[in-house]
Amino acid sequence: MTFDILTYLRELTAIKEWEIKDLAGGAANFTVRARPLSSASLDVNGAAKLDIELFNSYSSVVIKQAPDYLAKSPGFPFSPYRQVIEAQALQWFLISGNGLHTTLAQNPCIRVPQMLHHDRSSSILIQSDLGAVPNLYNILTDPTTSVSIAADLGHVIGQFLVDMHGCTPVTQSDIEKFQNADAERVMEATIAQAIIFMRDAGVTDFRSLGQLALDHWISRKKTAFAQGDLWFGTLLVEINKTRNNDRDSVVVGICDWEFAGPNDSAADLAQLGCYLHLLSSSPLKTSHMDEVIVTFSKNLYEAYFACSKTRLDSGFWNSLFIMHGWEMVNAAGWSARQDMWCACKGHGVRCSHIKEMIHVGAEFLRIALSTAEGKPEGFAQAHNANGTEWSRYFPLDIYN
Ligand SMILES: [Zn+2]
Repeated sequence: MTFDILTYLRELTAIKEWEIKDLAGGAANFTVRARPLSSASLDVNGAAKLDIELFNSYSSVVIKQAPDYLAKSPGFPFSPYRQVIEAQALQWFLISGNGLHTTLAQNPCIRVPQMLHHDRSSSILIQSDLGAVPNLYNILTDPTTSVSIAADLGHVIGQFLVDMHGCTPVTQSDIEKFQNADAERVMEATIAQAIIFMRDAGVTDFRSLGQLALDHWISRKKTAFAQGDLWFGTLLVEINKTRNNDRDSVVVGICDWEFAGPNDSAADLAQLGCYLHLLSSSPLKTSHMDEVIVTFSKNLYEAYFACSKTRLDSGFWNSLFIMHGWEMVNAAGWSARQDMWCACKGHGVRCSHIKEMIHVGAEFLRIALSTAEGKPEGFAQAHNANGTEWSRYFPLDIYN
């Protein structure tokens, strides 16, 4: 980290000794886990004392410093305003009466980091630590993960998502509060990259499919509060072993709320769904993994669709196809993520596996195009969309 976090913490808290460890996960920020090693000196001013009390109730905290570029790609500018968005989202979870606060209370197996300190001038966000636990990718690919744990995880996450997405009617003022023009630019660049991946994979109609994805993103209706960056890396899983024969219990921590706010109601489901789809298409998949992924997915969608029937109109399904499609293309071709899908060397459209995954993503965009044009074969394809458990919930009569 280029920022001197130790000096910053000493001045903020008057705790002199800290153990600081880099956390490699995030692409956007410099992130560390910090543990206080000594107690505070007594001759501190009032402001610092407050912070000491706050910090003393946690054995460790997570500190994010947001540079004005992507930490892992310094050539790519990215406004630190994203941290204002994350701080605001985490704050909303703390406000009694807010829909997010209520959602969290209704979902005791879900954890969200507690916002402890935000310093906008230094772009520093300090939050409670969700723990050094595996993420969802580690769990789904672990040969010791039981099918019952996979079922519980899918259910817990699906229930939280449907509760969060429906927790509050989104107002124009909410949309403005979470508006981040720079994050929109980053997402448009992501879609532009997906278009290049489709071209490189030999998708002949890459231009029209890419235009569909971009037009949809720009004009999407922001009707639900979404996490906005929901993939395996932002879902942290704690499994609590029980001593007797009771089922082990799960706790899911959800981190990285920088893209949170009012969004298309299908955004979170499309993004997590495309990662599940890619993992289920992976040549690295074992038969045990297959059982775990299918069980997780079934429970995720069952919990989600059981509770949200009234809001799932044709617009929702259209969004789900489009966003699943370009998210899938992007995650398949993105060098930083594609080692999850195959063991080949290289980057971008590097092998036949990645190429095939990009073609499947493109097919989802094509289904949305044909469905929008009212072609019946689009509906049939939609209902049989290979590799997604959610396609079983697609109502064939939705356009009647
Ligand atoms: Zn490969």
